[in-house]
Amino acid sequence: MARVCGRFAPTPSGAMHLGNAFSALLAWLDVRHAGGRLILRIEDLDAERCPVKNAEQLMADLRWLGLDWDEGGLTDVYRQSKRSEYYQAAFDELAARGLLYPCFCSRAERLAANAPHREDGAVVYDGRCRALSAVQIAERQASGIRPAWRVIVPDLDVAVQDGNLGEYRENLSSDCGDFIIRRADGVFAYQLAVVADDAAMGVTHVVRGRDLLPSAARQSWLHETLGYKPPQFYHVPLLLAADGKRLAKRDRALSLRELAQKHRPEEIIGLLAWWAGLLAEPAPVSPGELTAEFDWRRVSQHDIWAVLPENW
Ligand code: GLU
Repeated sequence: MARVCGRFAPTPSGAMHLGNAFSALLAWLDVRHAGGRLILRIEDLDAERCPVKNAEQLMADLRWLGLDWDEGGLTDVYRQSKRSEYYQAAFDELAARGLLYPCFCSRAERLAANAPHREDGAVVYDGRCRALSAVQIAERQASGIRPAWRVIVPDLDVAVQDGNLGEYRENLSSDCGDFIIRRADGVFAYQLAVVADDAAMGVTHVVRGRDLLPSAARQSWLHETLGYKPPQFYHVPLLLAADGKRLAKRDRALSLRELAQKHRPEEIIGLLAWWAGLLAEPAPVSPGELTAEFDWRRVSQHDIWAVLPENW
């Protein structure tokens, strides 16, 4: 069997919060338990929203927590904003097979498309631009509208065997619809970039928040379509703030920087491991002390109220 290769792939659009640290810890434990290698990939496709100083801070935070990596970081090879040639190659491959079409819909038109909303609120695109003739496409282009590019998905049920959450199924055409591969501003879309990168970097395990579970169906299908083997996915619970919404940058009290003022890294790792279901109580621990016993069967499948212990 191929050696396990995992990755932590943060988007450095802001400071790290406990939810990011939670996913990072589980990605780290998954790889270290298996004796594999871990990649840190900087997902700064939206380069303007992701200044280098955020990525630097993020790396410092991970190191402070004791979560190291074997490859990656801020070298060009591991920064999505510097990897367009890989995404272009995957894009060209899909285009050569007639699987792409330009989409001129505005955001408002897309939202008004008379297709159902998915449970997670995403809109299923009704495919209206797929039917444009060559003349209609030329007219729109001549009027200066820059298109996004969508991939034509088949009417196919995709089943993903998630290593933490079990089976996830989705019909690509009715639950997802033709999805965007390249945005109208020319930036390659997350789905394409992640698949091209995971394949090029030899990633075998993808550990990340369960908000991305629906993407796993799209990504598995893209992997197969491009001739790659899909990775094993492990989606982990989300940490919820007091208002029931997932933890985000607005929850300052639970930002890593804030907690680091008063707590040692081992205390924070212990708290995260307790929330994950790996410890019976939030006792201080280093990541390495959790490695030997790590087992996905002990990891929670349910979202977690991120309530700090009383003595914190
Ligand atoms: N960059 C994404 C994020 O920070 C994660 C992508 C992935 O793990 O596939 O939410």
